[in-house]
Amino acid sequence: MHTDSGDLVAALDIGGTKIAGALVDGAGRPRVRARRPTPAREDGATVMAAVAAVLDELARTGEWPLVRAVGIGSAGPVDASAGTVSPVNVPGWRGFPLVAEVARRVGGLPVTLVGDGVAMTAAEHWQGAARGRADALCMVVSTGVGGGLVLGGRLRSGPTGNAGHIGHISVDLDGEPCACGSRGCVERIASGPNIARRALEAGWRPGSDGDRSAAGVAAAARAGDPVALASFDRAARALAAGIAATATLVEIEVAVIGGGVAEAGDVLFGPLREHLRDYAVLSFASGVEVLPARLGSDAGVVGAAAAAAAEAGLWGLGSGTGEGTGGGTASGM
Ligand SMILES: [Zn+2]
Repeated sequence: MHTDSGDLVAALDIGGTKIAGALVDGAGRPRVRARRPTPAREDGATVMAAVAAVLDELARTGEWPLVRAVGIGSAGPVDASAGTVSPVNVPGWRGFPLVAEVARRVGGLPVTLVGDGVAMTAAEHWQGAARGRADALCMVVSTGVGGGLVLGGRLRSGPTGNAGHIGHISVDLDGEPCACGSRGCVERIASGPNIARRALEAGWRPGSDGDRSAAGVAAAARAGDPVALASFDRAARALAAGIAATATLVEIEVAVIGGGVAEAGDVLFGPLREHLRDYAVLSFASGVEVLPARLGSDAGVVGAAAAAAAEAGLWGLGSGTGEGTGGGTASGM
């Protein structure tokens, strides 16, 4: 048990476009940062070399000797119990032994792996919009839809680190096929690319800036474009149905929503809160609050640090989130 407030955790946030690293302190502040683009189309060893470059840059700083643990949040699917990752957008990594590869580069430090949705949840629970909440669903709505759960005051990530994966709950029984193999998933309706696709199919055309993304649809919706508004409304309904299902199943008190699509603001949150009244109807579920996430692009590294600190018993986090993290840990390798 390390209680020294000077302890740091080295955190990695691995996604399909970038690998971000940071040395995070006990107040949740990233003190040193490093970053490389993800060579997502290259072979597995090349992707790992980019991760190693981020670690090397962090290790060269004067603060590295204060590092007590390493936390990794990765695009999924992950298998935290096996220490492996298979990110959909990084085809060179299938069952890739990321925990072992990182562990052998950081001496005897313990290494904890969680999925990116769980990392974001750990961050929002520790320092963000879910702080102080015993039961929460946190979601990232961007290129995909991910999430994680806090239950009974603890991060609940499940045996493989994927619990709370709200994006692949079906909310439309006869809906369109989803990349995951199911159909009518929340992600198939509410992700940024699907918001944009649906708007374009219904006749929406980008403005003078040519922005065909969900951000372009959001701008049009704010200006009152009915097709753009309808596409956001449909996404909001899917999210509301997923949140209502979660509230009914495990009695969450708050749903925190981050990611690029959440930056649309009222265009998303307005209809979402409205539809939630239609779907979360039982007395114990109807009070669920919806809040925007607070940590933005730092959520990945801050959350990976929180998960690792909980596993390692740092910063007093072990008692609050320890047993439930389910993070894969390689100790003393
Ligand atoms: Zn799916």
